[in-house]
Amino acid sequence: MRKPLIAGNWKMNMTNSETSEMLKDLLSMELSKNVEKIIFPPYTSIDRAVNILKSSDIQVGAQNLSEFEEGAYTGEVSAKMLIDLEVAYVIVGHSERRTIFAEDNKKINDKVKRALKEGLKVVLCLGEPQEVRDADEQESFVKKQLQKSLEDVQIDYTKLVVAYEPIWAIGTGNTCNPKDAEAMCKFIRQSLEELADKDTADNIRILYGGSVKPDNIKEIMDRENIDGVLVGGASLKSEDFGRIINFEVEK
Ligand code: PEP
Repeated sequence: MRKPLIAGNWKMNMTNSETSEMLKDLLSMELSKNVEKIIFPPYTSIDRAVNILKSSDIQVGAQNLSEFEEGAYTGEVSAKMLIDLEVAYVIVGHSERRTIFAEDNKKINDKVKRALKEGLKVVLCLGEPQEVRDADEQESFVKKQLQKSLEDVQIDYTKLVVAYEPIWAIGTGNTCNPKDAEAMCKFIRQSLEELADKDTADNIRILYGGSVKPDNIKEIMDRENIDGVLVGGASLKSEDFGRIINFEVEK
């Protein structure tokens, strides 16, 4: 039984005071206990978020980490530093890291290994750009990302979550049709079976991400192979994010 997971990626938004305000609002709402909930604030707000959420069931993650253990890497943040802040999860391979910061599959593979080695759980993002979708080559593109990102990784469904995030759907309002999102998530599950085994593939959570909103969450979550969502823009507003968490009661 895969527990639904609703995750909010704040990207480079939210000062410490905005973090406090947003999370206090969110905690004042009645939130579903049936879903696992994670927010991914910027590094500077992690400590604040962990403290505010301490006695709630909302976990805190980081949006990135260094592939290196420690040392002369100016501007980087290590897995150990995140663990010390009581971070549970880290996002690896987000399309903005891949495109704007030129992170390739090798770097992403190194980051996945570093995170898992140090005890962080990983949300691994995969997804094709528009031109790959136009050429109907999304399956081979995403499969290659999956294989390369997980090369020499012992896949454990309690420590790894995969997020399918087609680049053309991120921040555009152009949500992937739930039928197409389901087809890709099912394909990713089948590909995981080849990389690991059936039990692992059956139990791993696969999320969809790309312009998820309160008014489309229900039809996305109704799909068999979609176990949750990674939400960008709509996770910045407590009311919208709360409604997404409470998708079971959303019309
Ligand atoms: C994301 O950044 O992972 C994302 C899905 O963003 P948005 O929900 O804004 O499309």
